[in-house]
Amino acid sequence: MTNTKVCSSCGRELPLDQFHRSREGIQARRAKCKECRLAHVAHLRKINPEPHRRASLKHYYRFKDKVLRHIGGEHPQCAVCPFDMPELLEIDHINNDGKEDRRKVGAVSKIYYVILKMSEEEARKRYQLLCVLHHKAKTKGINVDNLMIVRRAS
Ligand SMILES: [Zn+2]
Ligand SMILES: [Zn+2]
Repeated sequence: MTNTKVCSSCGRELPLDQFHRSREGIQARRAKCKECRLAHVAHLRKINPEPHRRASLKHYYRFKDKVLRHIGGEHPQCAVCPFDMPELLEIDHINNDGKEDRRKVGAVSKIYYVILKMSEEEARKRYQLLCVLHHKAKTKGINVDNLMIVRRAS
């Protein structure tokens, strides 16, 4: 077994460690060298960003979970109702300074980083968790108290 392999894309003969491992590949390595593969993946993402987005969704939810607990404690739930599905909980700016925040910080995911950098006390002073329904109601100016679906037990 040789320690080199010829890349199927650029044709260079390179040391094996320049190829990602692959169970099915010849010499248990991918056909394209790391450099070509990275270029290929970047190209695929450019023409079709969907699969990449789906793969990072899991990562995103884990990250979001962390932010939810930073604001909502051990058991994050809507500030108005007992709703607690993390996928449908949203972060609400208590003082309605969301627009200004977004202008300052940019993308929503960046706000997550900003929140995680704050102390929990500070984060809880500025943000609260709302379910999609109550969040929407608040941004539309509908009185959320009238939308109480289920009363919190105890
Ligand atoms: Zn190559
Ligand atoms: Zn709610």
